[in-house]
Amino acid sequence: MLLLNTLGLNLQKIKIAGFYIGIVLLAAGCNSKKTTGKESQAIRAVNEKEIGTGKNTVAITGATIIDGNGGEPVYDGCVIVTDGKIVDVGKNGVVKIPEGAQVVDAKGRALLPGLIDSHFHLDGVKDLPALFLQHGVTSLRDPGAWIEAYDGERQSGKPIPRLFLADPHLDMFPPAYPKDAYVVRDADEAVYQVNKMADRGASVIKVYFRLPSGIIREVCNAAHKRGLPVTGHLEVTEAMEAIEAGLDGIEHITSFGLSLQPQIEGEKYRQAVLADNNARKQGRYDVWKKLDVNGQKADSLSKFLVRKGTFVSPTLGAFEYQSPAEGETDTVRLAGFGQMKAFTGKLKKDGVKIVVGSHSMITYAEMGWAYQREMELLVDSGLSPAQVISAATMENARFFRIDDRLGSIEKGKIADLILVKGDPLKDISAFRNIEKVMLNGVWVKGK
Ligand SMILES: [Zn+2]
Repeated sequence: MLLLNTLGLNLQKIKIAGFYIGIVLLAAGCNSKKTTGKESQAIRAVNEKEIGTGKNTVAITGATIIDGNGGEPVYDGCVIVTDGKIVDVGKNGVVKIPEGAQVVDAKGRALLPGLIDSHFHLDGVKDLPALFLQHGVTSLRDPGAWIEAYDGERQSGKPIPRLFLADPHLDMFPPAYPKDAYVVRDADEAVYQVNKMADRGASVIKVYFRLPSGIIREVCNAAHKRGLPVTGHLEVTEAMEAIEAGLDGIEHITSFGLSLQPQIEGEKYRQAVLADNNARKQGRYDVWKKLDVNGQKADSLSKFLVRKGTFVSPTLGAFEYQSPAEGETDTVRLAGFGQMKAFTGKLKKDGVKIVVGSHSMITYAEMGWAYQREMELLVDSGLSPAQVISAATMENARFFRIDDRLGSIEKGKIADLILVKGDPLKDISAFRNIEKVMLNGVWVKGK
């Protein structure tokens, strides 16, 4: 009896201890996940399963390896790819080439991670993603189109980049691009859509300029719970206000116009755009021409962006203006665009995370070459070619939240690689000479 009693007491103690351990584990579990409701998910390309995987071993030898991380290049390097993955990287002659490997002599070439485009629009142009892949873009993100808009491209049979899609951007009435927008009327509607988009395979959420910061906050909370970043095209919502609400990225350098103006001027612009979406088209050049892009407002904005770790995709190509060979120069546009470049250069100099977004169909690039044009414009703005290369690869991978698998040439990463003729560290226009492209270990351009 005594024994039983003692035993009973002990059992009781064990039960109590177990209960407390359970509570502690439960609390730890909550803390580590920081999510409630639906599980967050890894960021996936919608066409991930449709992309073939290389089944053989390839050795790329003799190239200058620029790994995307911004370090010193490896001259006369060697990269081994097996089953779609990078399995070794180093100096030629040091790295062991497995027997039976396909050896690709890449002397005089630069080997880089596939380019990542953070701002691509399909715009109904058939085969545009396939063309971008041939020009070195192995991953692209469309920040505002129904996922179904890409069905034709996915079924074309042509190799296309990894597609990271947003589903429509979230806007309010009257939307600037009704076809690519989901119009919300309050925060509840917006949150409901964020979850629907996440369920449908969206890898980012984009907010458009009519959304006020109160709704942006709810959108960001909902998206972050699902593991998705949120990016925004702002115009009438001030950038620091929107970033405080939770934005991870800013599309278009023009999204900072309101932050850099005296508030009275800014309010005039805001009201003009709120009354008519199209007022922004010329209005933004008028605004930018007059801005002090090195003044106090610019400084504090820049510091704020560094502190917050915000990604900025300037999409300069979308705003580029050149004096025409004939006829009159629009001096407002010319000056305004010059200021956009100057501010982009300032942000980079201050340490802001700049990424490359092409906007895909732009005035001063032939079809398919917008990404290359954007790289050139970033160099024009004061970035070094090496900085532009990191912005095009690893920094964008971080923005997409895919940097555990993509964005650099490192052991264990997915083999999305490009071979470029010339020295892109000296001349960024070398990216117009893409000789070979490998997607998931398969040569999709050049054999
Ligand atoms: Zn866009």
